[in-house]
Amino acid sequence: MEQIKTIQSYPLTLENFGLAAMSDMFDDWVVYRNLEPVERRLKGLKSARVQLEPSIDGIPRKLDSNYARVALWIFEKAQALRRAEVDEILFIGDTLSGDGKAFQNLLALSGLPGSCFIGGEKADQSAWHSKDEATGIFSANRWSSLADWLALEKANGLKFSKNTVVVVDMDKTAIGARGRNDRSIDSARLKGLYRTVGNVLGENFDAKLFETHYDRLNRSKYHHVTQDNQDYLAYMCLVLNNGAIDCVDLLESIDSGDITTFPQFVRYVETCIVGGERVSEAMRQAHTAVHTSVQAGDPTPFKSFRRQEFLATLEHMNNLADDTPMAERLLREITITQEVLETGLWLKEQGCLVICMSDKPDEASAPNHPSLRDKLPVHRAQTHAVGISIAAALAELD
Ligand SMILES: [Mg+2]
Repeated sequence: MEQIKTIQSYPLTLENFGLAAMSDMFDDWVVYRNLEPVERRLKGLKSARVQLEPSIDGIPRKLDSNYARVALWIFEKAQALRRAEVDEILFIGDTLSGDGKAFQNLLALSGLPGSCFIGGEKADQSAWHSKDEATGIFSANRWSSLADWLALEKANGLKFSKNTVVVVDMDKTAIGARGRNDRSIDSARLKGLYRTVGNVLGENFDAKLFETHYDRLNRSKYHHVTQDNQDYLAYMCLVLNNGAIDCVDLLESIDSGDITTFPQFVRYVETCIVGGERVSEAMRQAHTAVHTSVQAGDPTPFKSFRRQEFLATLEHMNNLADDTPMAERLLREITITQEVLETGLWLKEQGCLVICMSDKPDEASAPNHPSLRDKLPVHRAQTHAVGISIAAALAELD
């Protein structure tokens, strides 16, 4: 319990609003990385591929312009199910370069009116928010500024009607609010990662070395190999941690430019494994699974890691008692962002389609493996909702 002493108090007075689930605002209108909606009536990427021209290769990521094409296609199908149109687009997220860019792509492609809120709490600074008229992006250092954003956009003429599509990001927005509770998401991912690597390497797992490799490869200098893809990074660190593989010059090969892509890295490991006699069966299996997925063009090839991340994420939800001190909760529990929840519920009440679009891999978000059948998907799992109520400000908009 010693660590708890070092937790500092949070500079804003946040309240615990009790248990909630993201499905309270989204129902099953949730789309994870593979772009196949959880809502069964709604079609996704596989159908969009057949209908969209020019056709789409692979699974587009949030920043790709093809992501906007598929997303817009999904919105139209969703609105058709609700007997509504797509007339305006709202976006709520936590990263200017990711969510902000995805929003801009959506507006550019659709030509529709819209607005985007990017939140990142800096509780030790005075409250600040501002809108960039050129991009339509409203940035704030308080999540409670969601109320200011809606008030501004209402005055600007946005309708918030059944023809409005509201896109909400999941990680570090709907849950684990950036600047407030985001470290809980990172620690759940890390726990999943360490468990996976521990399962493969057993007592040979060197956590310190793993951290060193991870920090090194996570730099932008290596993005051409890692693609900033957590699966790639995790697998590379696993291989580098495995002393039995006779690939001491693996890192040098990356540094020197002999290995420039992730599939090259995997092929290199393949040759080491085929020739290596002391490679454990667990390592061989882990490698074969990744190798097969990479060959199939799967952007989430390290499935066992993502399944452990899914379990660790659930373990970090509703894992603390109701009376746990706030600062400790923010560090150890993944909480729902109360301000986002209230905003989502209010917009839903206005008739808007409130849909979650997350870059989170499906394997890290839902029990899509036979061994996980008794688990809830992350968007249906309950946890404490924490934040500052903006209900009074929202009521004034009615
Ligand atoms: Mg996010």
